[in-house]
Amino acid sequence: MTGKPLKDDPYHDDKKYHMADKWNLDGKVSALCFKKPRAINLKVALWTLCLEAVTCEKCLRVLAEREKAKQ
Ligand SMILES: [Zn+2]
Repeated sequence: MTGKPLKDDPYHDDKKYHMADKWNLDGKVSALCFKKPRAINLKVALWTLCLEAVTCEKCLRVLAEREKAKQ
């Protein structure tokens, strides 16, 4: 067989996890790091509500700044 090797686990690929921020009526989710709310392209990235699961650096930065602002 030739061709690209298949991924054995499609859920542990390189997609980054954004922090979910806004939802619209279609169920589309916008990320915290987007300056203007727009739907996350789920082909290239995913979203989560779990802080520990966020891997998007920009979202993490926004979250860290929010933490600082609270103090
Ligand atoms: Zn993000």
